[in-house]
Order: sequence, then C-alpha cells, then structure tokens
Amino acid sequence: MTSTSHTSTFSVSTLRALAEKCVHCGLCLPACPTYDIFRTEMEGPRGRIMLMRAAAEGTIPLDGAFARHIDLCLDCRACEAACPSGVPYGTLLETARARLAEEAPPSRVQQIVQRIAFRQLLAYPRRLRALAALMRPLQRLGLTRLAQRLPMLPKSLRVMASLLPPLSREGIQPGAIYPAHGQRRGRVAFFHGCVQDAFLGRVNAATVRVLQRNGYDVYVPEGQTCCGAPALHAGDVETAKAMARQTIDLFLASGCDAYINNAGGCGATLKEYAHLLADDPVYAEKARAFTARVFDVNEFLAKSLREPPQHPIPARATYVDSCHLRNAQKVIDEPRHLLRSIPNLELVELARPDRCCGSAGIYNITHPDVADQVLDAKMEDVASTGAEVIVTSNTGCYLQMIRGVHKAGLNARVVHVVELLDEAYQGEHTSEERTHDTK
Ligand code: SF4
Ligand code: SF4
Repeated sequence: MTSTSHTSTFSVSTLRALAEKCVHCGLCLPACPTYDIFRTEMEGPRGRIMLMRAAAEGTIPLDGAFARHIDLCLDCRACEAACPSGVPYGTLLETARARLAEEAPPSRVQQIVQRIAFRQLLAYPRRLRALAALMRPLQRLGLTRLAQRLPMLPKSLRVMASLLPPLSREGIQPGAIYPAHGQRRGRVAFFHGCVQDAFLGRVNAATVRVLQRNGYDVYVPEGQTCCGAPALHAGDVETAKAMARQTIDLFLASGCDAYINNAGGCGATLKEYAHLLADDPVYAEKARAFTARVFDVNEFLAKSLREPPQHPIPARATYVDSCHLRNAQKVIDEPRHLLRSIPNLELVELARPDRCCGSAGIYNITHPDVADQVLDAKMEDVASTGAEVIVTSNTGCYLQMIRGVHKAGLNARVVHVVELLDEAYQGEHTSEERTHDTK
C-alpha cells in the first residue's frame, strides 16, 4: 500500500495505528459468522486485522487475495463488541476498503455499476420511489414471485426478488410537517432513508404516527439523499462525504433539536459523520453539531414515551437486532423496553441475539451463498422461539427476514418496532395481511 492518501482519516498510517491495537487474543473469533462458516483464520476478525496491518506495512501486496478476505467480511461488527482491547474494527474495515478502492479498484464494469447505484439511484429517493411504483403491478401479477423460481436468472436477481416486501403506496410526504397529538413536547426532523422510503414507506408512516402520538411535531426535510452507508462500505469515501454534507446542511437548516431515523444501518452512518468529515475544514464542526442530534427512534422513544400503548397484541414475538444498531450504536435494551410496553405481547429472546442475519447492506445480493448460510442459522434460532411476530429495526434486516420466513417456511409476520407500537396505539393489526401477501 502506498503511504499517500487524499485524507488522513482514511490513510495507511491510520490503518496501521488501529491494527496495532489488536493483541491477537482471539476472543472475537466465536462472535464472527464468517469464521463460523469457513473455519479459517483469514475469514475471521483476527486474521483480517493481521492482513490489514501487513498491507499497511507493505509486507503483502494489495491484490485480489487480500481484497477477497476483506470483501467476505459482513461488517457486522460483532467482533468489535466482543473485543476486550477496544479494537475499532468497523473503522479499520472502512479504512481498508477505502484504500482498496483507491489502490486496487474493482473492474471497470463494477465501477460503473457502483457509480450508477450510488450516484444516480440511491442519491435520489424520488427515482427509487418511481422504481418501487413500477414494481407494484409486477408484484401484484405474481411476476416477482415467479422471478424467485427462475433457475436461468442469476442467484443475486432471484434473491433481490425474494427480498421485496409487499409494496404499498403508504409513506410520508417530503417537506411536510406532521403535527403533534395532544400537548406538544417539541419538534423533530425525520430522516426517511432511501430504500426505506421507497420500499418500506409504511414503516416511515408508522414512525411519524408514533412520534406524533407522543407529542412531537415531525418535520420531513425535503431533498434528502442516502445516508452514504452503501458507498462508504464499498470504499467510495468521496460519494459518502458528498451525501453527508448534503444531509448535514438540510438538517441543520431545519432548526430542530433532534434528528430521528428508524434504520440501524443508516443511523450508525449518520452518527459517524463527525469521523467521516473530521478533516474537512468547512464541515468538521457542522458534522459534530449534526451527529450530536442524531437519534435512533428506539433510543429516542425509550426516553420519551409519554404514554404506553393501550391495545393488547396477544402474540409471541422475537426481536432480531440490527448489527449496526446493536454493535455500532449500542442501542440494545431500548427496543426491548418498548416492546415490553405493549400489553399481552410475549417477547422471547433469541439464543444468539448478537448474530448477523446475513443482510449486511447488500451482502445478501453480492454474496448470496454465504449470506444464505448465515441466514439459515439465524432462522433456525428464530424458529426455535416459536415466534409469530419477528420484530426488526433496520431496513436490510426487515427485507432479509422476509426472505428468511419464506425460505424457512415459517408462519410469522415481519414488522418494525414502530409498526407494532403503532398497532398497539391504534388497536389494529394492520401489517399481518400485507406480510402474508409475499408468500
Ligand atoms: S465484522 Fe462480522 S464478519 Fe467481519 S470479521 Fe467482524 S464479526 Fe466477522
Ligand atoms: S480484535 Fe480484539 S478480541 Fe480480536 S484478536 Fe484482536 S484484540 Fe483480541
């Protein structure tokens, strides 16, 4: 690896300094899903960190073999949570991927696909909404279900078809202010996400209703873009920074004291803007101010629930942690606390709540076979709880659970924490039929 870099945050010296914190104890290995599957040192956190250090010191080349080990990592950060030495694995991985993207870039075709996906699609939620609208009639005609079974299609496309939730027009209006119900307690700005906004608009609608119910005006800044997570995880730091700057300007201009998001993966990236833009002379300060106001909806509601929901939901439920909510944001008890506030809902813990579901951004599309092995283990755990309701708090996990329920043949519905709260406030079980539509 060359020692030059366009930014010190993602530099080789940063990579070396962070990798040197690892004392090679191996206590993180049992937490790693890819180590579990491959049982080789290089597909576990300790081996990957050793590779990163060797690459930073220039003792191994930045070639395809190095890239493959880095690429196979789910970025679930379970190893980071398990590490007693405080090795910041997530930052290490992002830095390694940024160096790889610069010094050993992917093929020209892959670069073009990534550029279109990040800069032309995810950057414009309106385009994603149009795509979802185009897919609605196809789903209604059963064509997306058919696509899942066509062996001539590449597995990635079949997986994509199986991740689709029941598509509806429900969602929120950019630019709108949704007024608080009852006595007003404040005003919050809502980050609606890109995929979430287009494909899971009903989760956003439920989030707004629950916040209104708890006394908050909810403002949805118009002109939002993707949080930048997919670009950052692919090593495209410049695209991620551009998205971060746009988001920061938009939300700081809102005049709100709290910026709420409802997707663990997006929230983790929003909270990392201060790190991402630490070397930016114009945005470093603004990024710190922005990050201090970012809250996951579980985190925010657990502290500010004005009244617990009244209507019972007599069902057995299990909660599937989002890795980035659990391991990066450390929001673990809050969603459980909110779910326990719902009358008659029986919450059963998974045996391995810390284990990734295999969604991992777009890992389930780029590495469908490994992702399916991770998913199968997760669904075995889910099935053993006997849950009829699988609760998540992240877009990717939600979609992956839809695939998992179908793949494992379970009779269970998938919901976000706020959807269940919304139901318990309203006394309606609105999501059940929708989820069963996919089967
Ligand atoms: S981030 Fe997850 S998959 Fe990657 S090394 Fe850590 S535990 Fe393993
Ligand atoms: S990352 Fe942490 S737990 Fe894993 S080997 Fe290094 S020091 Fe030990």
